[in-house]
Parts: sequence; C-alpha cells; structure tokens
Amino acid sequence: MILAEFIDVLRSNRRIVKGHRHPAEGMKQMREKLIKALLVEDNLGDARLMREMLRESSEGKFELTHVTRFGEAHQQLSEKHFDVVLLDLSLPDSSGLETFTRTQGLTDRVPIVVLTGLDDDETAIQAVQEGAQDYLAKAQVDGHLLVRSMRYAIERHRVREELRQANKKILEQQKSVIEEERLKVLLQMAGATAHELNQPLTSLLGFIGLLRMDEDNPDKRDRYISQIEDAGNRIASIVSKIQNIRQYDTKPYIGTTSIIEIDQGVNILSVEDSDTDFGAIQRFLRSRKQISLTRTGSIGDALQRLEKDRFDLILLDYVLPDGNGFEFITLLAERNIKTPIIVITGEGNEMVASQIMQAGADDYIPKDALSEKSLSRSIANTLEKARLREEIREVQSRMASMATRDELTGLYNRRYLMDALEREVARAKRYENDLVFCMIDLDHFKRVNDTYGHAAGDMVLTEIGDMLKRSLRKSDIPSRYGGEEFAVILPHAQEVEARKVCERFRAMVARHWFNYHSSQFQVTVSAGLASYSRPATQSPLDLVRAADQALYRAKSEGRNLIKRAIL
Ligand code: GH3
Ligand code: MG
Ligand code: MG
Ligand code: MG
Repeated sequence: MILAEFIDVLRSNRRIVKGHRHPAEGMKQMREKLIKALLVEDNLGDARLMREMLRESSEGKFELTHVTRFGEAHQQLSEKHFDVVLLDLSLPDSSGLETFTRTQGLTDRVPIVVLTGLDDDETAIQAVQEGAQDYLAKAQVDGHLLVRSMRYAIERHRVREELRQANKKILEQQKSVIEEERLKVLLQMAGATAHELNQPLTSLLGFIGLLRMDEDNPDKRDRYISQIEDAGNRIASIVSKIQNIRQYDTKPYIGTTSIIEIDQGVNILSVEDSDTDFGAIQRFLRSRKQISLTRTGSIGDALQRLEKDRFDLILLDYVLPDGNGFEFITLLAERNIKTPIIVITGEGNEMVASQIMQAGADDYIPKDALSEKSLSRSIANTLEKARLREEIREVQSRMASMATRDELTGLYNRRYLMDALEREVARAKRYENDLVFCMIDLDHFKRVNDTYGHAAGDMVLTEIGDMLKRSLRKSDIPSRYGGEEFAVILPHAQEVEARKVCERFRAMVARHWFNYHSSQFQVTVSAGLASYSRPATQSPLDLVRAADQALYRAKSEGRNLIKRAIL
C-alpha cells in the first residue's frame, strides 16, 4: 500500500471539513445509532470475515446487507437506505474503477469505502480521488480499522453534504443578489420609460394650457391641437413599444426607429483610443451617409473638440487613457455640455452600464454587442430622446415666459413688474442705490381706436413697445402695465438721467409716423416720474402712486409731457 498517497488523499478530504465540526465529535453520537451497511463482495470468505468483525465490534451496532454482484447492489441501493457502502471493485459483473463510478452514480447520497485486494491499490487511490471516502486493503483490515473507516466515511460524507448545502445556499443567495440587481436594472428601465412618457405628457398638458390661454385665436388653437395630437401619438407609440418590450428584454431600448429615418445630417464624436474599436464603429456606420464621424482618442481632446464644434451625439469608450466614462460625463456636466452620450463599455456588465445611465449617459452598448444594427438603433433612440428633451425645454420656457411677458408687445407684464419693483426697491434700500419709476400713458388713445380701429391701436401699442425697448438700457425693466399704459423701472438711475431717457423716448414717439393700411397718423405719450429718495422710506406702492400722480399732472397740463413726482 502506498501510504504516503493514502495519507495525502485523506488529508485532502480533511481539508474540506476544516472549520466545521471535527469528525471525532460526531462519532460519539453515532456510536449509539445502528449503522446500516451494504457489503458488495463476491469473495464469500472475505465477506464472512467482515461480518464477524462487525458483529463482534464493541464500537457500535451494525446491520449488514451482503450482496455479491453489482446488479444486486444496484437493486439494494434503489430500494433501501444505507449509511455506508463497502465496495469490492472486482465483481463478476463489474471491475476496476468502473465499479466505483457506477456505484457512485447510483447513490451520491451514501458514502463508499472501497475494499481492495493486494494488487489494486492504485485503482483504490483513484477511487478516493474520485470521491470514495476511504479504501481498505482487505488483507490488512481488522475490526477496529473497519469500523473506524466506516464511521469516518459516514461523518465526512455528512459534513461534505452540509458543506454542499451551504454552498448551494450561498449560490442561491448570490443568484438572488444577481436577480435583485437585474430587477433594479429592469426598474431603472421602467423608470426610463416613465421618464420618456413624461416628456410627451408634459408637452400634451403644456399645449392644453396654451390652448386655454388662446381659446379665441383660431390659428393658434389649430396649431396647439395638432401639437396635442402629436404628443398623444408619441405617448401611444411608447405605450405600444412597452407592450412589446420583451423583444428588447435586457436592453433599455424604447425606440425602434431606424437611423434611416433621420433626415438631417448628424455629427457624431467618437471618443475612442483603440484603432480597432474605432475601425469597427466606422465600418458599422459606413452606410449611414447622413452621419459624419469625428474621432478623438482621449477625454482631454474630446473636451477641446466639444468647445469648438457642435456635435449631436458622443460615442464614448468607457476606458480611456486619461480617465473613464464617469469622469468624462462629470466634466461635461461641469461645462454644461448637454450633448447626448452613448457609452460603449468593454466592461460589459449591467452594473457599470446602469450606473453610467444614472450619471447621465443616454444609452450603452457592450463592446461585444456592437453591431451595425445595435449601433444604429441606439443612435436613433438617443437622438429621439434628445429631440424630445429639447422640445420639452422649449415648451417649458414658453410657458414660463407667458407668465412674465405681455404677449402683444413682448414686454414684461404687470405681475412681473410689481415683483421686480419689490426686488429693486429692497436692493436700493440695502445698497443705497438710486432708482426711478416711470409711468407712461398714451394720449387720447381712444381716438386712435375710434378712427382707425382696434387693430391699428394694437399696432401702435406694439410699435411704441419697441421704441420703449430701444430707448432703455439693458438693466432697465420695461413693462406693459395695462391697456395703453407702460411702466419702467430704471435701477441705479438718478432722476436727471431718467428724465433724459424718458424725454428722448417721448420725442421719438412724437416724431414718429404710424402707418396703418393707407392711413398715416401720429401719437403722443405722457409720463410721470418718481425717484426713490433717501432716507429710504417709500414702499414700491408709494412709488407707483407718486408716478401716477405725476402722470396725471402731465395729462392735465396738456399731454405729450413728462412730470416728476414731488414725494
Ligand atoms: P388720455 O390721453 O386721457 O389717456 O386719453 P385716452 O383715450 O388714451 O384714455 P382712456 O383711458 O379714456 O382710453 C384708453 C383707451 O385705450 C381705451 C381703449 O380703447 C384703449 N386700449 C386699451 N387697451 C388697448 C389694447 O390692448 N388695444 C387697443 N387697440 N386699444 C386699447
Ligand atoms: Mg478603448
Ligand atoms: Mg480604452
Ligand atoms: Mg391714455
């Protein structure tokens, strides 16, 4: 018997149970328990010997079932539970290592102790390496050795089984962690979808709002209705794509639009250090004539290019010589560059991808999934997203400006002016600045309406609004205060300067000839000034009232005049 190897094999078995209960501890409990053993041995003499050893053993109780052929062992193992199998490898119907592997195949739940003759040690060692718990040379076996071997076999097998269960549990846990991550990515995709839906929905609601404001204007009404219809159709198409989302499964694609549908030229910046990868991108986009592709090999170069030229989209390699995708996205955000980004990641895992998406990328393609189709689809999808984003920004800014602007003249409205006056008065108080408030009213404007019609009046208001804008500095705040009344805040202005400004404006209006159809006519304006004087005690309303009184005096003293308030 090759003892060194035997010890080695045993040691390697022991290693597995390290950190767990030592086999000897379990053996105490086992001593009381009846051990059921299956002896597979065609040599009847050897079998009888072993039966006697077990019967006479003071080390436990044993129930031995003896069979002589593999076929019988097969039958026994399929019918009954055994704690251990004592297996002779040379049987009439099976021999060598095969006897072991076949038996193990029948029952990986039952530990096997291999019994050997004098000449097949090597096969026995192989069997142990394949998973047999132990092997015994029949010629050397005694009762104690046999029992001890059986017990160790049973115990080791039990521990190994426990370990396997634990590993299985760990694997399952890992699987559930992976599953959880997958779920998170799916939820993010759902979030992205909700986000995508949000855009046309906001657009829809925005245009309904606009529709309400312009109910009486048939042109605008028709335009808004068609915009509402557009947004509705977009929502419907996203919804139908969600219903087909299975097709895209792990990829957060919503749009199925092909790049072919993009009719205008598209400038793409590829940030890619690898010639091979850039070559592939170039090849995939070769047939897309509307795409012009520019390449930079580093983050630094890319930032320089982006300062100079306008790009519709960035194809970003995740790993670059001077940083990674996250760093690039952060740098873009710092520079307020909003160019949409598709990250091409060699890392290939969904976690990096989903994090990049959260950081602000619009899509990602793992390098190994890069193809003409995936790239085109991602580009189309991303450009569509960017377009929607832009559209929504426009609607929002239009909504916001509607709240502060007068539609006819484009000047600020009265609400904005009053807020601004409050702000400016507070500032003037704090920094001891000058400030002038000016109220302007058109003279005999009723006559203009009466003579030339309301539309002519509107035209006059618009033109006077333009003239007012032209007369003022950037920091001045002109507004249409009411029907044919204008008001201006002149921050930092002393009364003398403000008066000059207003005087220039009055003269400009008085000189001007208004043309409406074939009619030509002139209009004049009157104004009242109120300057904010120190010590600063006046409220914004005091200023308005004072300017109004001065205006009233200008009217009563003959119109086409400017008067200052006496505060
Ligand atoms: P005064 O010199 O005393 O200011 O005379 P006035 O006719 O300008 O003053 P009044 O307040 O009597 O009339 C203001 C007129 O301005 C009444 C209205 O027809 C006209 N008006 C007010 N808002 C608008 C508008 O948005 N468009 C047009 N076309 N006219 C307007
Ligand atoms: Mg690369
Ligand atoms: Mg790289
Ligand atoms: Mg008037």
